[in-house]
Amino acid sequence: MDLAGAFQEIDSILDRLAVEDLNSLPAESMGDDQIALQRIGNRVQAEAVRRLRHFDRNQGYAASGALTAKAWLRWKCNLTGAAASDQVEVARQLESLPLTSKALADGDISYRHASLIARTAEQLGEMMEAHAESILVTAAKELDPLRLRYVILHLRHCLQPDEILDDANEAHERRFLYLSQTFGGIFRIDGQLDAEGGAALQTALDSLMRPPAADDERTATQRRADAMVELARSQLDGGRLPEVGGQKPHLTVTVDIDTLTKQPGSRAAELEWAQPIPAETARRLACDAAVTPFFSEAGSESAQIGPTSRVVSGPMQRTLKLLDKGCRFAGCDCPAAWTDAHHIKNWADGGPTTLDNLVLLCRRHHRFVHEGGWTLELGPNRELVAIPP
Ligand SMILES: [Zn+2]
Ligand SMILES: [Zn+2]
Repeated sequence: MDLAGAFQEIDSILDRLAVEDLNSLPAESMGDDQIALQRIGNRVQAEAVRRLRHFDRNQGYAASGALTAKAWLRWKCNLTGAAASDQVEVARQLESLPLTSKALADGDISYRHASLIARTAEQLGEMMEAHAESILVTAAKELDPLRLRYVILHLRHCLQPDEILDDANEAHERRFLYLSQTFGGIFRIDGQLDAEGGAALQTALDSLMRPPAADDERTATQRRADAMVELARSQLDGGRLPEVGGQKPHLTVTVDIDTLTKQPGSRAAELEWAQPIPAETARRLACDAAVTPFFSEAGSESAQIGPTSRVVSGPMQRTLKLLDKGCRFAGCDCPAAWTDAHHIKNWADGGPTTLDNLVLLCRRHHRFVHEGGWTLELGPNRELVAIPP
């Protein structure tokens, strides 16, 4: 059978599979089919690599006017530059990696595994002996590519500790963090950390994320974002950050008393960086924070929510924490360290800063009450009723 006939035969088999009525087959049987098809996919990749090697070495691409096999792959197979150059590299390296070639041709490992082993062979050079290849192929048959990468790092650490250190130093140099405010006022974060920095951040965020409560409808990414803000807030609140301009760093909100008491027609409050925020957000931030009243240049009575004397004094905070122990919202187990003292009747509306008007709420439930429009009632024995909007 000639080659064209072989490809036709593969195509016609795939055509037969594509028209098979899957509803007539048990869903469980699809598992075996997946395994079989993955293996066939691996074998197809092996054959593509084998033919690419011949194509590359003997300049089969030249007839069409392409200058390199990589350029030809990008042009004719629509591959990205990175994917095309990876395939050419793997094709070249696999020639001296018989065990890897065989495992891929047998369908036992994927192209991704073979590519990792090929790159390792390039890095190890003469240190890549049959013994090392055998270790990696055995591991590749059992592990996903990420775990295989860990095995490779251990192996390289034994054989080339200096190079591993250089790689880690390079990864460290590539760290960056962008924090930029968009025109709409939202902050965007984009960044990259080395292994150690990423692990430190991940560990801190994980401890703040904890398993979600039953009523917690936030997505995992929203919970991670909240954890990151909590990390910053607890640093600011804890007063452990170095002083800036002779003051401990803090968030400052400037707000007219009219806005704080929600008078119709009042202007927005202003957060640090002159960012206008809704009155209800200012009321939430003012609920537990220190407030300094002052008269603005325009003569209107204003307040700065910031660093000086706290609305809820230290001793009262401590008593409240002893009483409530954590967020009082039903079903919430957020500990006291991550809560705000909420005034049931806002102090701007004349609510007193007394224990029978104060309740601990976590940041999420505090937001429920202010921006979310929930109403709270506190009974004589501190039983809390939360009424949805
Ligand atoms: Zn509040
Ligand atoms: Zn809560």
